[in-house]
Amino acid sequence: MSSTQSDPTDALSAVPAAGSRRAVSPVGRLRFFYGPMDCGKSTLALQIDHNHARQGRKGLLLVRHDRSGLPQISSRIGITRAAVEVDEGTDLRQLVRSRWATGERVDYLIVDEAQFLTPAQVEQLAELADDVQVDVYCFGIATDFRSHLFPGAQRLFELADELQPVQVEVLCWCGQPGRFNARVQNGRIVREGDTVLVADTQDSTPLGSDSTTPGNAVLDATGTTVRYQVLCRRHFRLGDLGPVAAQQDQLILA
Ligand SMILES: [Zn+2]
Repeated sequence: MSSTQSDPTDALSAVPAAGSRRAVSPVGRLRFFYGPMDCGKSTLALQIDHNHARQGRKGLLLVRHDRSGLPQISSRIGITRAAVEVDEGTDLRQLVRSRWATGERVDYLIVDEAQFLTPAQVEQLAELADDVQVDVYCFGIATDFRSHLFPGAQRLFELADELQPVQVEVLCWCGQPGRFNARVQNGRIVREGDTVLVADTQDSTPLGSDSTTPGNAVLDATGTTVRYQVLCRRHFRLGDLGPVAAQQDQLILA
């Protein structure tokens, strides 16, 4: 054996020094912040946007089915920012490239109501992170009213670099953390139906989004009052809406 230590920077060294010479290409990161409705996801989305903007970074805000029905991200605490409304046919790579083509910078994306993205759109976001170093922040609900993953949320769970539960004081009526969005019709929990329930009237917010306070209840196609209620797993399983459920329905129907 040689008595001299081999120099890892020696070009003739057979063993490359760990890490030091291996160029790691920069990549963006894909993050998914998820939680039940009313947990403050949109507020967090706008906060993250604010923090980046203060650093001089340029972001693009995207949304599907915002509670306001307008192309914007709005939070219950009253902050609102204009956003680009995407539909299921929007190619998110094209969207970013078209901004670049006009000379606009896009350093990061904020996507609200990301559970409504198609799996293909989530893959486009991963591509943007990997290939053109765009940081992507997605916010959304994990499971629908049947407690099954939304397709967009499922793909995010599969592909995201980071998964972050958001739990801001959303409690079931019993005091346990609320994790499930129950669909309530005529005072009873409903477990079947379309994942996204769009009200008949044109200006209504689609149900199934992060949009439902008791006062937000709408009529479905058959004219029945539908609302959402956050429950713990046990009370979701049992379909137990708690002692005030009947009163809330009466208020809505009044
Ligand atoms: Zn409970």
